[in-house]
Amino acid sequence: TVLSFRGRRALVTGAGKGIGRAVAVALSRAGARVTALSRTAADLESLTRECPGIETLCLDLADWEAVEAAVGAAGPFELLVNNAAVAELQPFLQVTRSALQRSLDVNFGAVLHVSQIVARQMIAQGVPGAIVNVSSQASKRALRDHAVYCSTKSALDMLSQVMAMELGPHKIRVNTVNPTVVMTDMGRINWSDPQKSAAMLDRIPLGKFAEVDDVVNSILFLLSDKSAMTTGSSLMIDGGFLVS
Ligand code: NDP
Repeated sequence: TVLSFRGRRALVTGAGKGIGRAVAVALSRAGARVTALSRTAADLESLTRECPGIETLCLDLADWEAVEAAVGAAGPFELLVNNAAVAELQPFLQVTRSALQRSLDVNFGAVLHVSQIVARQMIAQGVPGAIVNVSSQASKRALRDHAVYCSTKSALDMLSQVMAMELGPHKIRVNTVNPTVVMTDMGRINWSDPQKSAAMLDRIPLGKFAEVDDVVNSILFLLSDKSAMTTGSSLMIDGGFLVS
């Protein structure tokens, strides 16, 4: 790999499956000391079999106290990828209180909280840091049945901008990546209907969905010194969806 993260300590959330898992593996192969946080123990066990150097934290990010205790004790880190999220699609008129609460807790609240804990430790150590928040094209365009998901991702983009502003003087950069559909478990659940996916593909100038590696590469770029002057930005990985 071109990028080296040798000696850097990284925390990746939602690292049991999908994009987060691939980021954890890529960072580990690029020399970082990776802590993978996720909810399902079996996923983390298979991840450590695949990549023996990785350390794991098994907890539910919606649990504020559990996050406080576990993330605080696992640090410090120089790199943070807030990747975990849930996507419970419901028509606006049928949005439930439980879907709203869970989505706010995981997609937004946990990002703020984990970032606070990790950033405080970065500042205490006096080391530069980089945070990448995994957002979505859905933060910038209304999508049917996505009222809660779009809103949490939009809030995440703004949170990232304010964090970039306040943490910049401490040499901590904060950016988001905003992918189009990726065929992970989350993507398959929500986009396997051929009619629905054809309509989305029609709106993507490059005519395809994103691959997991497209997202991993952009995250690694934003974590690396190759993007040293970039903070507060959102990198679209959308094949041009936003401009079409
Ligand atoms: P997946 O659903 O495939 O994987 C999500 C991972 O996050 C799982 O390991 C899951 O664990 C974990 N996770 C979810 N909730 C919690 C929680 N409360 N506590 C701890 N871990 C949790 O999703 P993707 O890889 O597709 O998505 C990754 C990111 O990319 C998300 O932020 C998503 O919004 C974003 N994204 C995805 C797109 C797509 O089409 N797939 C498009 C644009 C953005 P478990 O399964 O055990 O719950």
